[in-house]
Amino acid sequence: MLDPFSDKAKRLVKEEFGGITELLLIIPSYVGIDQALERVLWVKSGEMPRDLLEMGDIQDLLTFYALLGALAFSPYGIEMELVKEANSRIYAKRLRRAGRISGTATELRTVDAGEIPSRDRTILERTHHHELPPDERDKLRLRYKIHLGKFLELWEGSLKEVYIREGYVYLTTEQALKLWEKSFERNFERAVNLLYEVRDELPSYYLQLYERLGEIAREYFKERLERMGSAEAGLLRFELFPPCVKIALGGVPAGLRNYAITVLLTSFLSYARLCPSPSRRDVRIRDCVGDLSVVEKEILPVIIEAGNRCSPPLFEDQPHEVKNIWYHLGFGLTDKPRLEDSGNSTWYFPPNCSKIRANAPQLCKPDRHCRNIKNPLTYYLRRLYIESRKGKQSTEGGENG
Ligand code: SF4
Repeated sequence: MLDPFSDKAKRLVKEEFGGITELLLIIPSYVGIDQALERVLWVKSGEMPRDLLEMGDIQDLLTFYALLGALAFSPYGIEMELVKEANSRIYAKRLRRAGRISGTATELRTVDAGEIPSRDRTILERTHHHELPPDERDKLRLRYKIHLGKFLELWEGSLKEVYIREGYVYLTTEQALKLWEKSFERNFERAVNLLYEVRDELPSYYLQLYERLGEIAREYFKERLERMGSAEAGLLRFELFPPCVKIALGGVPAGLRNYAITVLLTSFLSYARLCPSPSRRDVRIRDCVGDLSVVEKEILPVIIEAGNRCSPPLFEDQPHEVKNIWYHLGFGLTDKPRLEDSGNSTWYFPPNCSKIRANAPQLCKPDRHCRNIKNPLTYYLRRLYIESRKGKQSTEGGENG
């Protein structure tokens, strides 16, 4: 079985297609939208079609990357959750059918005979417990090992659950599968974040696929969405903002003010509040709201206050800068905007992390959530997504309990 994030898959993409961008460009000629959707359509019934399990490597990569390309339009939405869940289950089932975990993106290795002292094996694998059925004892067998450092990057459970010896962690098949699932999830997010960068260059095929995925995801997560409301545009969660935005909110010195307030904060707050997952870059504010009250009551005051916290205060010093804020929101250079003016200039998208680091390095003070993040907005979307999953787990826990 081919793990789509393994070295073998990467080699295949490079050798057969010339690279990931080239692969994404040729996919629409090889994979129909309905064909790609087959990878997720089965989740509602839970019955995985047999041909998904037996698909050849190339076809597998093409259909999987078709879905990843579509997710470039909305990382951390319900579409991503659907695709991640369905595909993680497909690959996990293939691994189970193969009977061994090998060639995956994790650095799991099989354990050699004699590597674990027999006294430890006897205790851990209960080799002498003949009252246990053979298949139960088989489940206890330590078949895989991974370097402790790699293990800690992925494992979320307690270290007491595993056997550690000479810098390696030894795992049963189930534990190894759990670890593989974590690595799949991590690589999946990383890939979607990377593709987010190039979404403007993707053919319209991916946008159509993304829209169809949205329909399936809304149906699949219907109950949850009704219970919790959509994770789309909503009240701003300041505590989940990335460090750079928090620094801008706190006010910055003269040399940084225009970049921090007008470029970063204005774009970040407006997209985060009005249109967190724009499906295209030329979106206008009037495509997202029916009047300007949210902008005037919730976004502009936060920008003005942050500007006033700068030293010297930005808008006292440069009152015309308010016009520039409206300009960056897409209304042209004005201080009396009307909704129909939106589109007169470009609604600036938050700059990528690399741009922030180049133009205003003082703003970039990464925390642990910044890992693999390419844009402050995806940082925020990711944290909202993690929060919504926590909410989902506690609601389900409550229902079960
Ligand atoms: S890595 Fe990106 S999101 Fe994190 S602080 Fe730096 S610029 Fe902001």
